[in-house]
Amino acid sequence: QVKERGKGHYRFYQPQMNADLLQRVQMDHAMREGLRRGEFVLHYQPRVDLRADAVPGCEALLRWQRPEHGLVMPSTFIGVAEETGLIADLGHWVLREAVAQAARWHASGRALQVAVNVSALQFTQPGFVQDVADALHVSGLPPALLELELTESILIRDAEEALAKLQALAELGVELSLDDFGTGYSSLTYLKRFPLHRLKVDRSFIASMPEDDVDAAIVAAIVQMGHALRMEVVAEGVERAEQLQRLRALGCDHCQGFLFERALPAQALIEWLDRRTQACAAPAAGAPASR
Ligand code: C2E
Ligand code: MG
Ligand code: MG
Ligand code: MG
Repeated sequence: QVKERGKGHYRFYQPQMNADLLQRVQMDHAMREGLRRGEFVLHYQPRVDLRADAVPGCEALLRWQRPEHGLVMPSTFIGVAEETGLIADLGHWVLREAVAQAARWHASGRALQVAVNVSALQFTQPGFVQDVADALHVSGLPPALLELELTESILIRDAEEALAKLQALAELGVELSLDDFGTGYSSLTYLKRFPLHRLKVDRSFIASMPEDDVDAAIVAAIVQMGHALRMEVVAEGVERAEQLQRLRALGCDHCQGFLFERALPAQALIEWLDRRTQACAAPAAGAPASR
């Protein structure tokens, strides 16, 4: 039963508000059931190293195979999971699953790094560093094959505490990246102090490149700043060949985007990688993948 609690003042009945709340409660319930029943899956999007023309890693992206709804994307459920706190359990599952997958790849002779998105609530839990250490230990995955993607909001909330956690994670040997970079409020002081390996430039800056001079200039500045701070710079959401061309010219290190491939189930990613290796003689990295 759903009860809307007013903040000490009288509230008129608002059917729309109750409908939204009810929907979120139902969504939360369905997600908990789904997690229990194994309805969540990870898809993996390749990250391409432009200079080496190689694929050093991939990003694990959560999908929900919800009965009668098909494949549900994170934008429809991550927000609710963050509100209700379920993201902690979901994030724990994602970490275990992604690390186990990377360990299987490693055991079969592939050194493919896997990146896991970490939400604020998950990161701030006291046991988070231990969770990561346990996942690595249980799977036997070399720590350097795990990358954790954090957002600026996580890091600025309590910078001292965040710094201590990042240092502990870096000491474990995992790599750390700052996701959606440019949309938050990182100060240069933080960027300098945090042990980050990578900046992932937010898709919104890439989308209007190269036509928009201002966005192109912002990306150029981020690349230079990242390199000055000894970080690799990754462009997210690369969809067109002209974007890739400009990013190469700007010295951007890595790219992710539909131009290369979408996030795929683990097995399909491996098939994509194998086809790509076979076609290695062809120089056109980033020819749109036919599906
Ligand atoms: P993100 O971490 O920034 O992930 C990149 C998103 O951009 C993914 O969307 C990916 O499919 C999409 N993308 C990649 N290349 C392109 C492109 O060329 N064009 C366009 N238009 N989009 C592209 P997705 O999978 O829907 O995930 C959305 C967001 O949901 C993620 O953004 C991340 O913030 C969150 N998310 C996904 N999986 C997880 C997870 O396991 N845990 C947490 N905490 N958040 C997750
Ligand atoms: Mg990400
Ligand atoms: Mg991102
Ligand atoms: Mg994100």
